[in-house]
Amino acid sequence: MTASASRAIKARALGLGFSAVGIARVEPLEAHARYEADPAQILPGVRAVVCVALCYEPEVDPEHARRLGRVARYAVGEDYHRVLRHKLAGLELEIERLLPGASTLWYADTGAILERGWAERAGVGWIGKHSGLLAPHLGSWFVLGEILVDRELDADPPLEREHCGTCTRCLDACPTGAIVAPYQVDARRCISYLTIEHDGAIPRELRRSIGEWVFGCDVCQERALDGWTLERLLALDGPGFIVLFAGSPIRRAGRAGLLRNVCVALGNRGDRRSIPALARAAVEDPDPVVRGHACWALGEIGARLDPRAPERMELAAALERALGDPAAEVREEARLAGGDLERAGGLRPATSP
Ligand code: SF4
Repeated sequence: MTASASRAIKARALGLGFSAVGIARVEPLEAHARYEADPAQILPGVRAVVCVALCYEPEVDPEHARRLGRVARYAVGEDYHRVLRHKLAGLELEIERLLPGASTLWYADTGAILERGWAERAGVGWIGKHSGLLAPHLGSWFVLGEILVDRELDADPPLEREHCGTCTRCLDACPTGAIVAPYQVDARRCISYLTIEHDGAIPRELRRSIGEWVFGCDVCQERALDGWTLERLLALDGPGFIVLFAGSPIRRAGRAGLLRNVCVALGNRGDRRSIPALARAAVEDPDPVVRGHACWALGEIGARLDPRAPERMELAAALERALGDPAAEVREEARLAGGDLERAGGLRPATSP
């Protein structure tokens, strides 16, 4: 029953237009130092937290910024928290219908519980070194909401924090040095805090670093996902795909389906910097559909590549190896890609006269 109710709740959440959903279990008498307020203080007997994310449009109008200063993207245009609250109320009704007699309570942006902590625990994303929630499949721009439920539900596995690896882009980019150590933000230096929450004078030594921000700051959030590229997605293995896209509708595409699409996108983008990742996928990916589409993408990039470009060697070597692939469809893709390349100036880099 808990499994089918959990599945139904998550399907309904995605149907309502949420971008991702996950469920965290609340153990009885659990200590909640990390997640701040104890949810049992808010809803007695709470056993699960349904966490949702809603993406918003990251449109930035440079002319608007020039006239009115820089404003955090979530605060530009439509009130996304209002949209979120409306959808949360709909999902709450659905949960009460699925679990007759259950008590529920939804939250969004009230500060009563640490939203990103619960979202991380529910597998929606992971907390990055800038202390914000990261989820590459959602992009950078989303708001979070929660529904507390006093019933047992199947919990989703949390993502691993190691996704950040050695990356320190967010720390390096912070204009005021507010990220004093990984996962540690000094709010007194943070532009978001200073421009939204702080009363009174802004410390003189920080004013120049604030630049033109007049409400919030997006710098660390913008930089935090810079490292996630289509090429990096190509390196995802099966378990990595499941973890990364937990709670996302993208998971429906399956690993092979998504990576196939990534190959097409990279081929159409035509950037020579994609060649190493595609060459690896063309030869090593476990799925023949991905290997075949990687060959196609290499052919597309190669056809636009300068005949003297050194990358041509790596590209040609991958296609030659793919000609010996055990799967006939991969050999055919490699043959067609090689043919396109020959017509576009040869498989090997042209030697200088
Ligand atoms: S919001 Fe801006 S000031 Fe605050 S930690 Fe991020 S980059 Fe630094």
